[in-house]
Amino acid sequence: MTVSRCATMTDVTSTWTEPSNTATALLLLGRGSDPASERGVDCPGDLPAPSDPDLVARATAAKAALGDRVFVLGHHYQRDEVIQFADVTGDSFKLAQQAAARPGAEFIVFCGVHFMAESADILTKPEQKVILPDLAAGCSMADMAVLGQVETAWERFEDLGIAGDVVPVTYMNSSADIKGFVGRNKGVVCTSSNAKRALDWSFEQGSKVFFLPDQHLGRNTAVLEMGFDLDDCVLYDPHKPGGGLTDEQLRSARMILWRGHCSVHGRFTIDSVREVRERVPGVNVLVHPECRHDVVRAADYVGSTEYIIKALDAAPAGSAWAVGTELNLVRRLALAHPDKQIMFLDRTVCYCSTMNRIDLPHLVWALEELVAGRVPNVITVDEDTAHNARVALDQMLALP
Ligand code: SF4
Repeated sequence: MTVSRCATMTDVTSTWTEPSNTATALLLLGRGSDPASERGVDCPGDLPAPSDPDLVARATAAKAALGDRVFVLGHHYQRDEVIQFADVTGDSFKLAQQAAARPGAEFIVFCGVHFMAESADILTKPEQKVILPDLAAGCSMADMAVLGQVETAWERFEDLGIAGDVVPVTYMNSSADIKGFVGRNKGVVCTSSNAKRALDWSFEQGSKVFFLPDQHLGRNTAVLEMGFDLDDCVLYDPHKPGGGLTDEQLRSARMILWRGHCSVHGRFTIDSVREVRERVPGVNVLVHPECRHDVVRAADYVGSTEYIIKALDAAPAGSAWAVGTELNLVRRLALAHPDKQIMFLDRTVCYCSTMNRIDLPHLVWALEELVAGRVPNVITVDEDTAHNARVALDQMLALP
């Protein structure tokens, strides 16, 4: 799946402007700038033209007509044009919890990506429908761990006689299938906020952790927060025979990391950190733990999306911040704090293009379909998978 579409541009500041239509400019999905790459998944019925001047009025009217029957969730990485219609904004877990806290809403419109809508379906009542306005809104990290590959790895652990020592842990950013696998095998889901607590609990249950699908969150948590050595971690590559690891490596490892990463956070490099420190003396470097290990080590602060938001809210006026996370959020924070110098960590900016697939035309289309009595793009998780995934999610909620 194509995830990122990038352009070179200057800092993200309060004087932000959209990139111009040059050969290297961002091709903003849904704006007709590159129809061949914008095809995505067909929407039955009429998808409004991005140029329709009435889109905001149409979304407002459709939402008002649906009233309490609809609840719109907006992930922090969504576009402003979509976020303005969100009843609540947050990270993936907070949004799934918010969906579960609205049992009266017939329709949950999830402005985020596919695995988030799955989690909302798992946590909401069977009669509630979770809708993803564009089915092409996936997540490259979640797609890097496929159930069959993970089961093959587990069979290897069983053959080696170590499976009984291994506790599977999956990041929230994984498919329902993977959460179900983890629940079936007595593991736990984690978020970027509680990864250390999840690992602490897991190492009380077994001597090894199989961490899915984000190698960076697993490694950063184990090494920087729990005092492990890098040598305690091995990388299981599902595209290599046996994961590319010897029996001895698997036997001696404490953290078996799945070879997955976020295509957006994985872009930041140690050079980005050096460059911004030279360019902006005194700058604070603040990054998400999905970034590479050397980047996180070189940063001043590391934390989840919610941590980043709170850190910038609390930062003193006049302070300078280079932020390593998704650009829609950095841009929104820069605009919200004009008294602080908030910039994107890298000079080459990059949106999460699957997040960006949810644009205003798709939101209008989904809401108007609901008004017309049709329920589009419903995300459902089969009951067996949902049950096992709920076991792993409940274990996370029960973490000490
Ligand atoms: S920002 Fe990364 S983890 Fe989040 S949806 Fe995009 S690709 Fe997936």
